[in-house]
Amino acid sequence: MAPEKMHFRPTEAVIELAAFRENLRALRHRLPDHSRLVAVLKADAYGHGAIALAEVCEQEDLPMIAVALVEEAIELRRSGITIPILVLGELSESALGTAVELGITPSISSPEALVCASTFSRARDLEIHLQLDSGMNRMGLIPSDLDSAIDALRASPRLRIGGIFSHYANASTPDDPFNATQRERFDAMLARLRDAGITTGIHHFANSAAIVTGQVAPGDWVRAGISLYGGEPLDAGESRLRPVMRWITRIERLKTIDRGEIVGYGKSWRAERESTIATLPVGYADGYDRLLSGRAEVLVRGQRAPLAGRVSMDLLTVDVTDVPGVEVGDEVVLLGQQGDESIRAEELAGHIGTIPYEIFTNVSSRVPRRHVE
Ligand SMILES: *Cc1c(COP(=O)(O)O)cnc(C)c1O
Repeated sequence: MAPEKMHFRPTEAVIELAAFRENLRALRHRLPDHSRLVAVLKADAYGHGAIALAEVCEQEDLPMIAVALVEEAIELRRSGITIPILVLGELSESALGTAVELGITPSISSPEALVCASTFSRARDLEIHLQLDSGMNRMGLIPSDLDSAIDALRASPRLRIGGIFSHYANASTPDDPFNATQRERFDAMLARLRDAGITTGIHHFANSAAIVTGQVAPGDWVRAGISLYGGEPLDAGESRLRPVMRWITRIERLKTIDRGEIVGYGKSWRAERESTIATLPVGYADGYDRLLSGRAEVLVRGQRAPLAGRVSMDLLTVDVTDVPGVEVGDEVVLLGQQGDESIRAEELAGHIGTIPYEIFTNVSSRVPRRHVE
């Protein structure tokens, strides 16, 4: 075991387990009868800490969680997580044995991987989820792969399909007819497998965007990621889920500077009046994107305050001239709620042309995650 890290810096990501649980239940309520929710905890639960959230998923009786890498699944198992885990990404041949020993379900997404799984299953039972490519052209079997896949499956009595799935390319734009096209292609491939006598297990297709827009076939399982963390899955949406992460720090230093003084690298900010500048112990090495310089705001005493000057590697400077009573040690919110104000991941994403997913996953490992009930 690595020694436990010591934290003295007041910068941290507080993860509110109650908000995660609330989102999980709210999403579950939107599902058709007999549909079940799989929580996607890849990339350390989108930066929220996969172990603690996997424990919540166990308490909430989810049928399964999903991660991208077998390494992520192994880490969860080693931390005592016992819930079924699906690996969405491709596994190398050498990882299959470890995965099976640890009760980790591999996805099979290519003809080569299916041959490999079939060979592996000569010696032992193997349950897989089979990915079909319904149009994203990234992962999964395509219609022309199906005949040889059917042969391989028929020749492998110990290889069992626990589930079949596909992934939407553009569910975040719900009126795109391509969503229905993908579903039709998926259903057509399913029908071919079934007609060949292959048992297809459970089916899952929908991501967060498809769930919140009701694009879930009755009985299908769904794979929810961003929505569980309170991120908005739709391009133009107001799903009103509860943000789970509060990324906070505290004012380390305050100073009053004269009109005409500059702040930070490149002298990009100049005081147009006598100004109060707060220095915060957080920077781009913590995942606070340097491109947020001159664009983003933070919350201090329930009020918005703009960045002043460029984001440094370890430090951030903020113009708090208009925040009455501001003091060293005051809590500063980079992401999340404070008083009546809140900064959502969508807001930061909008400043720099990205999506809330990346705002969360960019919060670096230097920022401790503190899970609270
Ligand atoms: C990441 C991922 C998801 C979750 O997507 P969200 O938009 O975050 O809900 C679902 N399925 C697959 C295959 C994924 O890679």
